[in-house]
Amino acid sequence: MANLEANRWFTEVSDRDGSAFSLRINRKLDEIQSPFQNVEMYETTDFGNLMIIDGCTMVSSRENFFYHEMMSHPALFSHPAPKNVVIIGGGDCGTLREVLKHPDIERVTQIDIDEVVTQMSLKYFPELCESNNDSRATIMFDDGIKFMKEADAESIDVIIVDGTDPIGPGEGLFNHAFYTSCLNALRKGGIMIQQSESPLMHMPLLIEMRDAMTDVGFVDLQTLPFPQPIYPSGLWSSTMARKGEGFSGFREQDADKALFHTDYYNTGIHKGALATPNFMKRAFAK
Ligand code: SAM
Repeated sequence: MANLEANRWFTEVSDRDGSAFSLRINRKLDEIQSPFQNVEMYETTDFGNLMIIDGCTMVSSRENFFYHEMMSHPALFSHPAPKNVVIIGGGDCGTLREVLKHPDIERVTQIDIDEVVTQMSLKYFPELCESNNDSRATIMFDDGIKFMKEADAESIDVIIVDGTDPIGPGEGLFNHAFYTSCLNALRKGGIMIQQSESPLMHMPLLIEMRDAMTDVGFVDLQTLPFPQPIYPSGLWSSTMARKGEGFSGFREQDADKALFHTDYYNTGIHKGALATPNFMKRAFAK
């Protein structure tokens, strides 16, 4: 059994989950304590660079495509004609890059509370930041909770909440007040999608999120499980919710015809993610 000595392995011990996850490292690259969170960077032996926020694995060069693709394409193809998109969080800019692959999107505004995350990503994940200068993109640094509260009513087509876990600055991204702000800011038929933790490890939180979204008036909730190799259990999810009735299903032909590169998402994966596993169906039905 390899002993996981600290100078050769990064280990995230997740007390809330009773699990731990390690990646072998060559060296520590950087660490900055921002006014909001502690951000570390490591060079790993097999996963490229690795970003850690407050001790939690966030993104690595090798596997981030699962998350960034499943936080963007299902929602964008489930909207009939998304033009104005807002990303709350997303400071590593991977989700922004995916959104900008959609040629009909006219405007994407990204609001992350911590500029340090984007500074670190620019330096250590330049590939995730390759679309940052797209003329359609606006990158802001502010509290996403405040931004959504102050957003014009019925002004946004898709809101992507790419936040941290519900701790620290991310805590307020999982409650009724925030979801009410999002619902107000969405146009009719608009979609909100949020990273919704692990269906295997965090079902009580996932149900709480879904109930809160429903309570404030969202409909047509869909939780999409997908692999996330460096997060607790490796099974993660995003939850999509719609404002008001209207288009349901997704633009399958558009998705099939899309000319942009993906590594995980395709229409089969999209349809598969909509087929809810039985353990999740039973938990949601209670
Ligand atoms: N899990 C993603 C992945 O695997 O690629 C990365 C998540 S992204 C780094 C999470 C971001 O949420 C962080 O950059 C953090 O600064 C941001 N965040 C947390 N609370 C926030 C808030 N209230 N408003 C805006 N951004 C927030």
